[in-house]
Amino acid sequence: NIRDFIATENCLEGKTILVTGAGSGIGRVAALTYARYGATVLLLGRTSSKLESVYDEIESAGGKQPAVLPMDLEKATYAEMQQLEGLINKEVGQLDGILHNASLLGELTPLEMYDVDIFAKVMHVNCNATFMLTQALLPLLKDAAHGSIVFTSSTVGTHPRAFWGAYAISKQAVEGMSDIFTQETRNTTTLRFNCINPGGTRTNMRAHAFPGENPMTLKTPEDIMAGYVCLMSDASIDVRGQVVALQPKD
Ligand code: NDP
Repeated sequence: NIRDFIATENCLEGKTILVTGAGSGIGRVAALTYARYGATVLLLGRTSSKLESVYDEIESAGGKQPAVLPMDLEKATYAEMQQLEGLINKEVGQLDGILHNASLLGELTPLEMYDVDIFAKVMHVNCNATFMLTQALLPLLKDAAHGSIVFTSSTVGTHPRAFWGAYAISKQAVEGMSDIFTQETRNTTTLRFNCINPGGTRTNMRAHAFPGENPMTLKTPEDIMAGYVCLMSDASIDVRGQVVALQPKD
C-alpha cells in the first residue's frame, strides 16, 4: 500500500529528484524528506529566499548538497526549460524524478463570473507549464533506470466540484496528461507517470480554500510523506498511470 509505505533508510540514495514549489507547503516538506532518504534534491520555485531556506535546512540536516533553481512557472518560456535540462545534465548529470507540486488555487467562484485572466494564469501554471517542463526534461528522465514523474492532483481533479473553477479543471487536465503519457510510453520506456492527491493538508493554500476550517484538524505535510517517498522509490517501479489518494475519505 502506497499510503502506508515504510521507507527504508537511504531508499532514495543515488537519485536526483526535482521538486516544483519546493519553497513552502507540501513541496518544502517533500524536498526535505527526499533529501533525508538520500536523494539529491533540485529545488524549483518562484521565491528564491524560500528555496534558499530549504537549501539551508537540507545542508544542516546533513543531506546531499541540493540545488536552487529559481523559476516562475507563470512566466518561464519553453526555451528556458530546455536550458534548465542542459544545466541539470551538465552540473548533475542525471534526473530520476520530478514532483510537479507547484500550483495556484485561483478563485472559488462560479464559472459564469470567473475572471478570464485568472483562469488563464491558473491553467498555465497548473497545466501548461507542467506539460512544458515534463517535455523539456524528458531526455534526461528517459536516461534514468527507473524514472518517476509525479503530478499533483486533488479530489476536485478526480470529481469536478462547483465553484472550484480553473483549479478543478486544471487538475482534471493533469490527470488526463498523466494517463496519456502513461499510454504513450508504456511499451517503450521504464518511465512511469502517476498522480498523487494529498487530500486536505495543513498549508497556506488549504487555509485560503477553507478559511473557516480549524487547521489543527488537518494532517500536516509530514504526516503524508510515505506516499510521496514510495512513488519516487524503486518500490513503485510497477505503479503506472495511477491516481494515488493519500486520504481517501477527504
Ligand atoms: P501552497 O500554496 O502552500 O504551495 C504551493 C507552492 O507552489 C509554493 O511553494 C508556491 O511558491 C509554488 N508556486 C505557486 N505558483 C508558482 C509559480 N508560478 N512558479 C513556481 N512556483 C509556484 O500549496 P500546498 O502545499 O497546499 O499544495 C501543494 C500541491 O498539493 C498543489 O499542487 C496543490 O494543488 C495540491 N493539493 C493540496 C491540498 C491541500 O489540502 N493542501 C489538497 C489537494 C491538492 P511560493 O511559496 O513562492 O508562492
